[in-house]
Amino acid sequence: MEDCIFCKIIKGEIPSYKIYEDDHVYSFLDISNDGNGHILVIPKKHYVNIMDCEEIYLSKIMASIKKIGNHLITNCGFSGINVMNCSGVDAGQSVFHLHFHIWPRNKDDGLKIFPELKKCDASLDVLCEKLKLSEKVKNVTLYTDGACSGNPGMGGYGSILIYNGVEKVISGGEENTTNNRMELMAVISGLEAIKMGCKVEVYSDSAYVVNAFLQGWLEKWVNNGWRTSKGDVQNQDLWQRLLELLQKHNVEWHKVKGHADNEYNNRCDALARGEIEKIKKLINVD
Ligand code: AMP
Ligand code: ZN
Repeated sequence: MEDCIFCKIIKGEIPSYKIYEDDHVYSFLDISNDGNGHILVIPKKHYVNIMDCEEIYLSKIMASIKKIGNHLITNCGFSGINVMNCSGVDAGQSVFHLHFHIWPRNKDDGLKIFPELKKCDASLDVLCEKLKLSEKVKNVTLYTDGACSGNPGMGGYGSILIYNGVEKVISGGEENTTNNRMELMAVISGLEAIKMGCKVEVYSDSAYVVNAFLQGWLEKWVNNGWRTSKGDVQNQDLWQRLLELLQKHNVEWHKVKGHADNEYNNRCDALARGEIEKIKKLINVD
């Protein structure tokens, strides 16, 4: 991120008092110089806040906080640490690059880390009902298919979501697109229709979509800055939209044979073709 002060600190464009650094994390003194030494720990990759951060990266950050904490206690004469994070403007975040504050602590050091908050109006019963995460993971099945009349040409996509035996049917189309884009849109529109984070079994007949995950192509594209030996990765906009959805849902990919005996795949195909017919009618093409 070009305008991010913490990214600039990592790159050395803004000076900082470095405490620790490894492949994933950079740690330095907070400019406020309060407590007994106020330390910040930040990921080297730009994430806005905890909710935005990949779990694997969060675990790297926590591991480094543990390392720094152990160092403060073993080598610097402290007996404990406080760790704090602000995620979101309303939570007091002022720099929008994920960071954790660490304050080293000692017995009777006089620091008041916990703010004095007013009592909550709601009872613990009410709060618990409101705030608890549903422990049951919801399992959703998603069938998808895309089609194109000409490639590129008029295209359509169809998806069928099944949750608890109830179906939701989604379809859409575009005047000028490709088959691969429609296959991707079928998955994207299906996943976008699921409000809560779920376990989703996706069934697609598109080798392009399914193998990007099962054969690890997508991971390679991301790591290579969306370039292959043949040039820029196509449909990057849709792949990125899909990657965002995968942060929310736990997706398992299944390749099905197209135009065969899978009832749902055939229905999705019919939905996609129906969308192409709609476009043809709209623009009066036979
Ligand atoms: P937060 O309010 O949780 O977003 O914390 C942002 C922290 O970044 C504050 O404690 C600031 O004092 C600190 N900060 C801002 N700019 C710098 C800087 N250039 N070097 C070190 N710390 C900084
Ligand atoms: Zn940044």
